[in-house]
Amino acid sequence: MRHIAIIGSGPAGYYTAEAAQKQWGEDVCVDVFDILPVPYGLIRFGVAPDHQSIKGVSRRYEKTALNENVRFVGNVAVGRDITVPELQSLYDAVIFATGAPNDRELGLEGENLANIFGSAAFVGWYNGHPKFADLDPDLSAREAVVIGMGNVALDVARILSKTEAEFEGADIVTHALESLRESRIEKITILGRRGPHQIMMTPKELGELAALERASPRVDIQDLPDQEEDALLEPGLRKSVAHLRSFAAIPEDIHAEKPIEIEFDMFASPVRFVGDGKVQAVEVERTKVESGRAVGTGEFYQVPAGLVVSCIGYRSSPIPDVPFDERAGRFANDAGRILPGMYCVGWARRGPSGTIGTNRPDGYDVVEKIVEDLESGVLGRKGKSGRAGFDALAEERKLDVVTFRDWKKIEEAEEQAAREGAPREKFVDIEAMIRASR
Ligand code: NAP
Repeated sequence: MRHIAIIGSGPAGYYTAEAAQKQWGEDVCVDVFDILPVPYGLIRFGVAPDHQSIKGVSRRYEKTALNENVRFVGNVAVGRDITVPELQSLYDAVIFATGAPNDRELGLEGENLANIFGSAAFVGWYNGHPKFADLDPDLSAREAVVIGMGNVALDVARILSKTEAEFEGADIVTHALESLRESRIEKITILGRRGPHQIMMTPKELGELAALERASPRVDIQDLPDQEEDALLEPGLRKSVAHLRSFAAIPEDIHAEKPIEIEFDMFASPVRFVGDGKVQAVEVERTKVESGRAVGTGEFYQVPAGLVVSCIGYRSSPIPDVPFDERAGRFANDAGRILPGMYCVGWARRGPSGTIGTNRPDGYDVVEKIVEDLESGVLGRKGKSGRAGFDALAEERKLDVVTFRDWKKIEEAEEQAAREGAPREKFVDIEAMIRASR
């Protein structure tokens, strides 16, 4: 019997569990740990609440989770409740699928002013992550700035723009919905340090901005390169740029019909935040792109902002006894192998890029590596106690483990508490989750 511990129950974790099961069938026991009492990581806390069709992938993970030889071990923090060397003594392989839950910092003057948030915190707030449920951003200013030209920036700009009716069917938590109802934001500036040909936004997500009820996207035609140059782009990016071109062509009278403006300010690199206790503006330097890089031109200006959300990427959390690459912000690994018997998948391996589906090959790939390591003998031949060993340790330490069956009770309670038309009302604190599970 092979004993595998996967740390993290998001997409990377469950695709890996699925791959292990395909590889070893009934000869494997997989324990999927999570620090929270609820599974699915990024699907629950990262994917936008109005993108329910993407969240549907959790049904596939549930199929894996309901197999006898896969077990959800929720409410257990690796590094606190159990150490990594302890896990290694119990399991043949320990795989980190812990994602990248922390915000990358810009490192700019004024970054600690009030009402400046990283996207992990801001997205966590509207998605009901227990760590960020109390964030309480102030949405009373007329101007907001979103930094970054990726899909997370689009998520944030869209959520800030939607009417309450447009959240029908979404699982945005009620505290965020109520706060957004009172929002006075009229202008959202999306700041990009490079130009239209360097955006990371994908066409479907960008296209959604054109369909918003009360917001209109605005692009300065001067920022767009000659249209012939688009032919050189890969097809996805070419489609995204076509959306920017169509935004640039929106006539003024159509803009005037919508009370919220989403302005793309490209070739603008933030240099400092201005404010007195609370943010009031972002100072930016005009840039030009040379050999793909943003280069400052020496021209500076301020963009007014009473709220700033920085969507510039994420870092993984280090865990004691696991080699960490500080510069890259993820575990130090060679194509998923950290050390013999210790592996990583998903954003903990690659950094925060790619779609949810990108995690699937990661899972299959790491299982192949474990097979190689088992066959070469580097993992040792001694039988490990796996589940039974963990259960004994959990009992000795009085760990309050939440099982998949417990999670199903939490899920049921969340579905029962849902607003009309919404799939669920999430619990936003850990104690409430645990109470519902018992
Ligand atoms: P991302 O796609 O890597 O975009 C990050 C953006 O931040 C880039 O435009 C980058 O500009 C900018 N940036 C980085 N450092 C900066 C700095 N110091 N100053 C100014 N700008 C800076 O990251 P993301 O938006 O966080 O998304 C993470 C991953 O999740 C992506 O793969 C994304 O596609 C995926 N995602 C997908 C969806 C969806 O499919 N619906 C939704 C959300 C997220 P440079 O390019 O110039 O570095």
